[in-house]
Amino acid sequence: MSIEKLNSFLAPTYENFPKGRMISLVTLRTSLSELILRTEGTGEPMCREFVQAGSTGDSRRQVVQRLVMTKRKQVAPERRKGREHLRAYNLLYTIKKKEEILTCSLNTNAPCEMCIDCFLYGFAAGGGGAQKSRIWTEDAFSILTATDTLSDRTINAIFETGTMRDEKGNASTALNTSEYIKPGVHFLDVVTLKDVTADEFRYLTGNILLTGRYGAVSSRVGRMENQILGIFGGIAELPSSLELVQAIHDQFTTIGTPLEHPLDNGDLIDATKTVIASWTNRRGVSLQLSDEELAAVIADVDQHWSDAEREAFLRRLDQSYEPFRQVGESKKGKGKKKETAEAGS
Ligand SMILES: [Zn+2]
Repeated sequence: MSIEKLNSFLAPTYENFPKGRMISLVTLRTSLSELILRTEGTGEPMCREFVQAGSTGDSRRQVVQRLVMTKRKQVAPERRKGREHLRAYNLLYTIKKKEEILTCSLNTNAPCEMCIDCFLYGFAAGGGGAQKSRIWTEDAFSILTATDTLSDRTINAIFETGTMRDEKGNASTALNTSEYIKPGVHFLDVVTLKDVTADEFRYLTGNILLTGRYGAVSSRVGRMENQILGIFGGIAELPSSLELVQAIHDQFTTIGTPLEHPLDNGDLIDATKTVIASWTNRRGVSLQLSDEELAAVIADVDQHWSDAEREAFLRRLDQSYEPFRQVGESKKGKGKKKETAEAGS
């Protein structure tokens, strides 16, 4: 029900032109296992950045190194999560490229320009078509410093037998050291959705809530939990992820709770809610959902992604782009709706 509370910041239907309606989600991302946020194989260290610890008084002059979860590291797994379901219901479209029929896929320069994912996260096609992304993320920063949140693990290569010794009894000498982010590390960031419809909001929020693994070698490590601590509506963006983290640092200092690993989830959520409670006073931000309204919106999203409703929900959202696809098709003469199993189901 209370998704209606967001109505003045939701688009009634998809349209090509932006109208400055913004919904922002304050997102807490907590690592639940070891996590590796760097580009595999490059030998680069984990992403981190020197920043001011806080934003007031002495903390402003104190420089700390925080971990950074880049935009790409957030959005790519979340897009893939949504696309798993689009694929399952045959809602990814095909395009014809040099006599080849390609199905919409990420990072292969072959966006179909017709699926839910293309319409929401955007694409830039070589053929001249383009759609701006309507989901804006920012680099997320860790609350604690890199020194507190990183650790090294030395791995001993294991033989086929599952032990450290080969058949002749010789110990494995192959050693490898890898840096990882500890479990229980918190990242905070602000995700902004621009000119989205109610169903698009549900799709994007569902992608964030349903994604549970991030980073390199995520099939082995990289479990993460996402929670939405605040939903805002307005005509301007919220303060940045960095400002949020700095304000939380100052809030911890004010209440005298030490900032050290492992940081209590509850303390952090309380501090975050205290900080964001004053954000509706900022220019351009006019609405914050109450805790009850926020819970109701999350329940609404869960309901739409449930086994019972997911397919109908995704098909309805897919259908909502139909008028815009036809324009594109006749103009560019490319893109053909993939024969789906719809007829047979
Ligand atoms: Zn697509």
